[in-house]
Amino acid sequence: MKQVTILGATGSIGSSTLDVISSHPDKYGLYALTANKNVEQMAKICRSHRPRYAVMGDQQTAAQLEKILSSSCATKILSGAAELERVASDSEVDIVMAAIVGAIGLMPTLAAVRAGKRVLLANKESLVMAGSLFMAEIARHGAELIPVDSEHNAVFQCLPMGFSTGLNEKGVTKILLTGSGGPFRELPLVDFELITPQQAVAHPNWDMGPKISVDSATMMNKGLELIEACWLFGIDEADVEILLHKQSIIHSMVAYNDGSVLAQMGNPDMRTPIANALAWPQRITSGVEPLDLLQVGQLDFQVVDENRYPCLPLAREAFRQGGTSMAILNAANEVAVENFLNHRIKFTEIAKLVEATLLHIDSNSAKSLEVILADDARARNYVNQQLVQSNARN
Ligand code: NAD
Ligand code: MG
Repeated sequence: MKQVTILGATGSIGSSTLDVISSHPDKYGLYALTANKNVEQMAKICRSHRPRYAVMGDQQTAAQLEKILSSSCATKILSGAAELERVASDSEVDIVMAAIVGAIGLMPTLAAVRAGKRVLLANKESLVMAGSLFMAEIARHGAELIPVDSEHNAVFQCLPMGFSTGLNEKGVTKILLTGSGGPFRELPLVDFELITPQQAVAHPNWDMGPKISVDSATMMNKGLELIEACWLFGIDEADVEILLHKQSIIHSMVAYNDGSVLAQMGNPDMRTPIANALAWPQRITSGVEPLDLLQVGQLDFQVVDENRYPCLPLAREAFRQGGTSMAILNAANEVAVENFLNHRIKFTEIAKLVEATLLHIDSNSAKSLEVILADDARARNYVNQQLVQSNARN
């Protein structure tokens, strides 16, 4: 029986993980569930899944949870960053699902890595901002990193068993990442200014949290995934091709030097990569409906129009620049997306703010966590200052 901690248990990935785990009670036990502020949802999942620990973002929300659950549940309630890192690294834990959204997920995910756990990585932002350091820590502590992001899990499944970096020696010539293009792949460009948060979070194929849904609409998500793939598989950005594939059935592909291209297919449901990552190298049921290719009928592929998705070339450029450029890109995007979701800026301003931040903030060599976090903070400050100035002008 493996003991699992889910970081970000109240989110979209957290819920899908709980769903898969609950159908295999003989294989997985829940050590800890964590959340930021969603007390109601945490109370609900504690009652139904009975984890040993529940960790909330602060003392206030922990006290509220304590009050709701009172004596109805034996779960021990904790709070704060130190407890978050403790439940990610405790010696009783075997598997950690890293499903907190954003840069804030880096430290608890690193705590799991440094404790040598099997880390199921959904939190792509941590790899984008600190990829080099993160991968070095994986190697140093003998942790096992299994990608959950559907594209990277697809690539993982299409690579030779037990892949490591140095894919060229294994005959791999290219990685093909697919992306649906989000809800606005056919919207006339003149209408982009008027896109509302509600429209942006309504993804045609996937049901996801708000931040990644906006990232999918701008295709910054594919840019972050390009960087994620480079770090995970030890390849260069020039070896990654991005294809629009509107059906979201092929989750990504690997091309080999003998002409073979291996694809992983399935219905667009995160429970498949989650089940794969939990059980690898075994397979377990995920609850996902079998794929009916006759029903799908057709698989389409198109080139990505970078005028429509300016965030994508910005991410590629940040990887080329290296150092803390990727942390700066990620931080600027997080602040911009949050402001868009709160109706403070237009959809089209997200890419403009990220571009301005990359131009304005000099990057450094990403040699330590301190440098990376300092540049992340500088980028956030810069975007916030720009917003204050533009508010003052209007
Ligand atoms: P979500 O918004 O639905 O959930 C986020 C979770 O993070 C919640 O449990 C929330 O409580 C927690 N959280 C947020 N801020 C926090 C903080 N300050 N401290 C502690 N916890 C905090 O997000 P999601 O869609 O589940 O995505 C989670 C991660 O997985 C993201 O990095 C996303 O890019 C990645 N991912 C998601 C999907 C998907 O289908 N949803 C697919 C691929 C990758
Ligand atoms: Mg993805």
